[in-house]
Amino acid sequence: MNKAAEQSLQGLRERIDAVDQQLLQLLAQRMALVAEVGEAKHVLGLPIYVPEREAAMLAQRRAEAEVLGVPPDLIEDVLRRAMRESYRSEKDTGFKCVNPSAGPVVVVGGNGQLGKLFVQMFRLSGYEVKVLGRQQWADADALLKGASVVVVSVPIATTSAIIADLKGRLDHGTILCDLTSIKREPLAAMLDAHSGPVVGLHPMFGPDVSSFAKQLIVVCDGRQPEAYGWLLDQFALWGAHLKPSTPQFHDEAMALVQAMRHFTSFVYGNHLMAENADVRELLAFSSPIYRLELAMVGRLFAQDGALYADIILSSQTALPMFRRYLQRFESALQLLEKGDREGFIQAFGAVADWFGPFAQQFLKESRDMLLVANDRRHLG
Ligand code: NAD
Repeated sequence: MNKAAEQSLQGLRERIDAVDQQLLQLLAQRMALVAEVGEAKHVLGLPIYVPEREAAMLAQRRAEAEVLGVPPDLIEDVLRRAMRESYRSEKDTGFKCVNPSAGPVVVVGGNGQLGKLFVQMFRLSGYEVKVLGRQQWADADALLKGASVVVVSVPIATTSAIIADLKGRLDHGTILCDLTSIKREPLAAMLDAHSGPVVGLHPMFGPDVSSFAKQLIVVCDGRQPEAYGWLLDQFALWGAHLKPSTPQFHDEAMALVQAMRHFTSFVYGNHLMAENADVRELLAFSSPIYRLELAMVGRLFAQDGALYADIILSSQTALPMFRRYLQRFESALQLLEKGDREGFIQAFGAVADWFGPFAQQFLKESRDMLLVANDRRHLG
């Protein structure tokens, strides 16, 4: 080994360590500034996620990176990761209360996974929050009296019956809303149980999110949007993106977005089990995309089977659609069993045409995700 080259390498490594330590100091400075921004936003009541500010800041840093010969994607990756951290930490400062004169917020099912998250967020915004759990129905009238908002966050299968139990117990001005993953039935039940403001909500995220920043909440109007507007403003202040929809459109979209996805993941997991696949070995042999696929399927089984059964079974259109999917599986398999290579390529082309420019967009998006997945690999 060339001793001089070895020493030079060692020297370079030490200088890289020193630069990394400076990066660390700069990140610490950035986080301290972000904490101050959080305080200021708290006072001013500004949302934690401001898309225009984020886009403008990234565009500027990309341009500056280019001048310095730093790949613009590199600075964007670093800053996006740093911003994710700041969204998470801005939460710790709490949020401005949009409606300080509002009475208590009651979360029915507030000890459950998603309910707990909303309890925490309302408390961080300074609202008095009460939980109406399974055991508290004897005190329900006292708990519900004077509530500004009642949020229903209970298992899907029991939601409508629990909403019906609220009938006659709510003040006329109380906002009644739910977080159920389906919207048609619960919204109808809420409109029947309450004559005041009603809004159906579907948070399109699980209880494990670190912040509401950039998270989507589907909003289905029930009644008196002018009366519940402040509640939506509060969600927006938490960073959420609100997507208005009708309950019909929402439920039809969810048959594909949720029911179909969960069902195919379930079948795939079931297939791996029945084939006696060795997950450890699969991981050892996996390409980044397979690792992601395995992660997407495997994560399902770390969660509650009852929630997924309810999501699938509560969809009125899912089961006939699964049947059609099975038929498409069957006909694609027949092509291959016949050795019909041309037929397969033709069918492939038809789907590619149908995806159109989205295929390229998805290729780019997935490439970025795969790079991140690969960065996280440790091949020790
Ligand atoms: P969960 O089972 O963790 O929580 C439900 C809670 O409701 C439990 O604490 C349970 O004790 C309580 N409960 C049951 N019966 C009750 C009753 N009669 N009175 C009062 N409380 C009662 O379920 P979750 O995952 O938090 O889901 C709750 C709702 O949120 C569901 O409608 C679900 O569709 C929706 N949702 C969940 C997720 C998610 O990822 N978990 C995402 C979006 C929407």
